[in-house]
Amino acid sequence: MNTNPIDISVVVPLFNEEESLPELAAWIRRVMEANGFSYEIIFVNDGSTDSSWKVITGLAAENPAIHGISFRRNYGKSPALYEGFKLASGKVVITMDADLQDSPDEIPELYRMITEEGYDLVSGWKQKRYDPLSKTIPTKLFNATARAVSGVKNLHDFNCGLKAYKRDVVKHIEVYGEMHRYIPYLAKNAGFTKIGEKVVHHQARKYGSTKFGLDRFVNGYLDLMTLWFTSKFGVKPMHFFGLWGSVMFILGFFSAAAVGIMKLWKLHTGVPYSLVTDSPYFFLALTLMILGSQFFLAGFVGELIARSNPRRNDYEISETL
Ligand code: UDP
Ligand code: MG
Repeated sequence: MNTNPIDISVVVPLFNEEESLPELAAWIRRVMEANGFSYEIIFVNDGSTDSSWKVITGLAAENPAIHGISFRRNYGKSPALYEGFKLASGKVVITMDADLQDSPDEIPELYRMITEEGYDLVSGWKQKRYDPLSKTIPTKLFNATARAVSGVKNLHDFNCGLKAYKRDVVKHIEVYGEMHRYIPYLAKNAGFTKIGEKVVHHQARKYGSTKFGLDRFVNGYLDLMTLWFTSKFGVKPMHFFGLWGSVMFILGFFSAAAVGIMKLWKLHTGVPYSLVTDSPYFFLALTLMILGSQFFLAGFVGELIARSNPRRNDYEISETL
């Protein structure tokens, strides 16, 4: 076994980026050699339909530091990162997009921040972006929400493709679905809290076109809600559903009681009375009590599922003596 791990693993997920790859590989190599880093580049071909994989095969033949994984079909950026992370063996793992929008010249400083300043994760911040307005404005909103929900308050650019990690971090988080947008949140949930940021240069896409449409923002918000919910209530769903079920049921119960008491009072005092079903409170009571019970049931079902989850007792242990 190799007891002397290499300095840096660069993980590059890609989907139809044939034009950019040779330039990117040469640029990374230049930076690594100029700084004397030992390195590997892991290209993860996410089911490209162009000749990307052929290009990677050619590059790997010329440079033994280049490795590749090829998916049979297109799964998405998160699955590509997941497989790349599994393979990475460097002390520091750096991810970057394949489209030359991220600059390999940032690598030495990112490496220094991880190894010398002790960061677990350093995320790039494309302070000056070269993307269309239709993307930059929603991105600002997206990042503000992500900051508020995740509690990672110091990041301006969650979804920057250029990030550096301590090796431990990538081995202990599981990126899936489209969760690559929230890797800092995943890292924080796994107990890696020293998360920093570095302003990075960004360039307009040189070749090809973006692989994500505007639906990224809708999906991004839904994923954020999912992450928030699972990180807070993943193993104790009753704490969520039970609380809100109770609140609704109690409100409904008192509304029903108010309707009943009012009716009895009117009967008793001889005031002209109307039907119970004429009162809006009757319908409010009905709806709230039904919704409240439904929430409770959802809580019980959630607990049954959580109980049979094989990872319910899966903790992050950093040290033992
Ligand atoms: N990508 C991928 N699988 C996909 C979509 C994208 O591996 O299904 C890669 C893509 O090739 C690029 C990176 O993810 O290397 C970022 O994608 P893109 O540049 O299209 O996103 P944007 O810069 O517009 O956010
Ligand atoms: Mg891009």
